[in-house]
Amino acid sequence: MSTTAVRPTDDRADLGGELHTRIAIIGAGFTGLAMVHALRKAGIEDWLILERSSDVGGVWRSNTYPGIACDVPSNLYSFSFAPNPDWARTFSSGGQIWEYSQRVARDLNIAERTHYGEEVLDAHWDAAAALWRIRSTTLELTADIVIDGSGVLTDPTYPAIKGLNDFKGALFHSGAWDHDHDLTGERVAVIGTGASAIQIVPELQKRVAKLTVFQRTPGWVIPRNDRDVTEVERRLLRRVPQLQKLSRGWQFVYRDGVMLKVMHHRSFRKVMQAISKAYMRRTIDDPALREKLTPTFEIGCKRILITSVWYPALNQPNVHLETSAITEIREHSVVTADGTEHDVDAIVCATGFHVTDPPIAGRIAGRDGRTLAETWGDSPRAYRGVTTTNFPNLFRIGSIGTGTGHMSQIMQIESAAVYVIDALRTMEARGLASVEVAQDAQDAYARTVHEMVKDTVWATGGCASWYLDPGGEPSAVWPSSAWHYRKWTSRFDVEAYWVTERAAVAAAA
Ligand code: NAP
Repeated sequence: MSTTAVRPTDDRADLGGELHTRIAIIGAGFTGLAMVHALRKAGIEDWLILERSSDVGGVWRSNTYPGIACDVPSNLYSFSFAPNPDWARTFSSGGQIWEYSQRVARDLNIAERTHYGEEVLDAHWDAAAALWRIRSTTLELTADIVIDGSGVLTDPTYPAIKGLNDFKGALFHSGAWDHDHDLTGERVAVIGTGASAIQIVPELQKRVAKLTVFQRTPGWVIPRNDRDVTEVERRLLRRVPQLQKLSRGWQFVYRDGVMLKVMHHRSFRKVMQAISKAYMRRTIDDPALREKLTPTFEIGCKRILITSVWYPALNQPNVHLETSAITEIREHSVVTADGTEHDVDAIVCATGFHVTDPPIAGRIAGRDGRTLAETWGDSPRAYRGVTTTNFPNLFRIGSIGTGTGHMSQIMQIESAAVYVIDALRTMEARGLASVEVAQDAQDAYARTVHEMVKDTVWATGGCASWYLDPGGEPSAVWPSSAWHYRKWTSRFDVEAYWVTERAAVAAAA
């Protein structure tokens, strides 16, 4: 896909030759695509996308590690407006999800308004003109509205381990796989045992000489009953699309229902833990290994690991699960607290992402000149997971305060898109130049969310996870059902916002 010249999208572009668009969308991932669909449906065409990479797909383009797949069923992990009867598996591979996003992008014809290779380097609010001034890799433009769909699982986190930078072998991160380096026959270390590592390890185990998995905290595992979708099933879904809707609806209700029970009911968690332990007993032969893998916190406190290949891989003779903490990395080895030096040729960091401190938060400056990062500190805030005080006309989607850990994030994104479209309609209808969530509304919302999370397993389950920030607030996640989030984003509540009328901006100018 090619980069086209910036096309002014409204007549303000003629004013002083400044490039202007009504809506600048950051990112052509699943949020960007959902927003384009929603804007088009609302009849809004003056938008453009700034995408830092060379293609669409977001995390499903950038995450290409061996074994990548989605642990949410395919029928649910897709756009409501673009059902796909051709999923090959009940839980799709990352590659197929990326292809799906490319197909959706083609159908939405986003190419003509998408500028690839354009990373947003700076965006700041110009209060006098009531617009955003944006600088990206090669462009400078202004926009009335910014919709940030840059996501939270995009910028890899490397572990702060002494000596990591001195390592002389190949260094990988799950989120930036180096396909030029073949790990076949090598001695490989995998750091981390989260959702990414449990998919990588079973694939690497098949081809490396020795795999040492460094586990800090074991997670609860529930088997993923994945299988091929038969040709007959696919034909049926093509002929009777309602069947896929039915399956999607059922999975939505089932997942939301189970997760609410896990979050709120200890007795239900005990049943789930018993299921998980029984699965472990059936799959892991060695009692010592079982002990290492048994979590000490309650199920659901951290993201549940949905996999049927992780435990079997750990049984294999070329795999060693190391639970002694890493103290140092040397030029060709990893040293652990028990004094062992593990010689390795390559290290894979499956250590997560900058979820609540993405680099872009340091590049977006609001009304008072402070960036999102400066405004947030350790505890990011987003009213209804979308807007932040001090940042007029900035809508962030699928990011702070929206992750669920069990539901399709695409559904959360589509819910927030409804809120944003209603905001745009409201602004148009009332002649508003800007909307900014009022501080008291944002504070009240934070208190409500705090009340919602305080009795859940996330706060009481005895684990440390990125679900909660250092202050114990659910900055990254939404502490209720996806249905609840949908309800809370179904209408733009302008009464919670400070507004500026267009007439006032024009008069001041
Ligand atoms: P993650 O969930 O943040 O897990 C990071 C892992 O690295 C944890 O096991 C963590 O241990 C470990 N770790 C971090 N720093 C370490 C250190 N210094 N020493 C040793 N271990 C260290 O990251 P992820 O697995 O990449 O997953 C991130 C998110 O991506 C998931 O929560 C999920 O939302 C998404 N994801 C989804 C899917 C899917 O199928 N839908 C698949 C992959 C990823 P501790 O637990 O002790 O912190």
